[in-house]
Amino acid sequence: MAPPAEAGPGESGPSLSPIGVGYCARCATGLELRWQEDRDRPTCPACGLVVYVDPKVAVAVVVGGPAGILLGRRNIDPGRGAWSFPAGYVNSGEVLEEAAVREVREELGVEVRLGPLVGVYSAAGDPVILVVYDGTLISGPVQPDGREVSEAAMFPLDSLPTMAFRHDAQIIQDWRFARASEAGRQQSGMARAALPTAYPSA
Ligand SMILES: [Zn+2]
Repeated sequence: MAPPAEAGPGESGPSLSPIGVGYCARCATGLELRWQEDRDRPTCPACGLVVYVDPKVAVAVVVGGPAGILLGRRNIDPGRGAWSFPAGYVNSGEVLEEAAVREVREELGVEVRLGPLVGVYSAAGDPVILVVYDGTLISGPVQPDGREVSEAAMFPLDSLPTMAFRHDAQIIQDWRFARASEAGRQQSGMARAALPTAYPSA
């Protein structure tokens, strides 16, 4: 049996194959999927090491303005050619909100001020847990990095382009709810600092 292909940088995430299980860190034998406890897990047939594959945490920011929301056209897979929110993986030990601001800066060259949490998204079989924040541009102009994002534009909510990922429609719906809720709170005089960051109940 041919050894599984190793994923290169930037190729993990939504396309992560459960079969690309690699080699034993203890004895370098090729790992196999074997039933452990409640599911198949990469297991070393030689020394018995079981690899517990952790989820990946990613952050995205819905950057909203009067003209709509800011989207970038993806220049990398998954979703190459389609549009999505600025997003990326959280580093180990990194604060979520700082990762969100960093990803916007890296992909689009602009600074954002984060608003409320929009939601947390996951799906069966998908290793990625996506945490989404509201954001507002506080600098400009937008300059796509050309590597991960080829171009960027503001899109009105009623004429969005082809979006890249499964959660995108739900995220936009939740974001509208979060924005409306925040506007209501501000109108009622509640301090911004007192905003709960919990997932809004629909
Ligand atoms: Zn082993």
